[in-house]
Amino acid sequence: MIKTHGYAAQSATSAPAPFDFERRDPGSNDVHIAIDFCGICHSDIHQARNEWKSSIYPMVPGHEIVGTVKQIGSAVTKFKVGDRAAVGCLIDSCRNCDSCNAGEEQYCENGATIWTYNSKDKKGNINFGGYSDSIVTDERFVLKMPLNLDPAAAAPLLCAGITTYSPLKHWNAGPGKKVGIIGLGGLGHMGLKFSHALGAHTVQFTTSASKIESAKKLGADEVILTRESNWHVPHAGTFDFILDCVSAKHDLTPYLALLKRDSTLCTVGLPEEPLAIPAFSVGLARKSFAGSSVGGLKETQEMLDFCGKHNIVADIEMTSFAKLDEAWDRVLTADVKYRFVLDLKTLNNK
Ligand code: NAP
Ligand code: ZN
Ligand code: ZN
Repeated sequence: MIKTHGYAAQSATSAPAPFDFERRDPGSNDVHIAIDFCGICHSDIHQARNEWKSSIYPMVPGHEIVGTVKQIGSAVTKFKVGDRAAVGCLIDSCRNCDSCNAGEEQYCENGATIWTYNSKDKKGNINFGGYSDSIVTDERFVLKMPLNLDPAAAAPLLCAGITTYSPLKHWNAGPGKKVGIIGLGGLGHMGLKFSHALGAHTVQFTTSASKIESAKKLGADEVILTRESNWHVPHAGTFDFILDCVSAKHDLTPYLALLKRDSTLCTVGLPEEPLAIPAFSVGLARKSFAGSSVGGLKETQEMLDFCGKHNIVADIEMTSFAKLDEAWDRVLTADVKYRFVLDLKTLNNK
């Protein structure tokens, strides 16, 4: 067994604290990765605080993992010791249903998607995430990270990146399309970068006046502050696709009014409380409200390669385990530009 140091939440009300545990020795298909960087996703906070009512403790959060291969199993072909490697939101699935065979393991039809943390493996052991110094994962669920990307700034691609890239591709964001991104946080700023890189006319919606200028620098063709009532009226019926990246309950009605006939608003945000959809706001012009969850391994690798080619990484603020509580508080007040990344060198219980 591999001694591993990390940070865990022991309950919905306790802050993550130092926690030692063991990883399995690598099996023949496993890759043992020494973690260098792990992004802080809002989902880490939702789950540590049991906001989705499905939490398993102790919980070591973290699913934006970049590290260095330390050891490989005898049958591993994709990696060698010393390679840069990455792990995202899922680490296993049934591997046999139509979704898994299509590379959409996050939608495993046997309900067997195994998430990187807040889940159990096939033997019933709790899985621990990337707020820790190592991880052991089957190579099928390990990604190759382009070497031209800064590994710390690339860590958020593993969740914030793929979660926004996947729906933008699915709904054909590109030249000639007007795309809106709601919420300029970790996910939103990646959605903005991807929509811009894919060639769509991209409009950022934000509740934060302080983010307007940087949204333009990130690639927004227009930025709309959504604080005043009726802010949406001049833009009604003009959008081909809108991606909602908001972490808290909010009113969808004005955003649905922005869609053209037959267009879609897709949410990737996962607020604790349900979102209301007035029937008139979709029915009168055959509009759709949709959702999307992360992305499969094939598309995640495609997204990483796209980022390598276009030099796309997250805008990050490096942080340490000593400042983890403060970082989480700042995520909750939408005060991060635009993703915190933990440097595993700062883990103090090593
Ligand atoms: P984040 O960094 O906290 O960003 C959320 C943004 O939403 C904030 O920066 C803010 O943007 C806006 N916002 C926050 N509270 C708001 C409110 N009350 N009303 C309106 N806007 C508000 O979070 P994140 O890590 O990007 O995650 C966003 C959501 O996606 C979370 O719910 C997370 O769990 C979920 N998620 C889903 C998936 C998936 O597969 N579907 C994957 C990862 C994460 P402005 O300041 O610009 O308004
Ligand atoms: Zn995430
Ligand atoms: Zn499956």
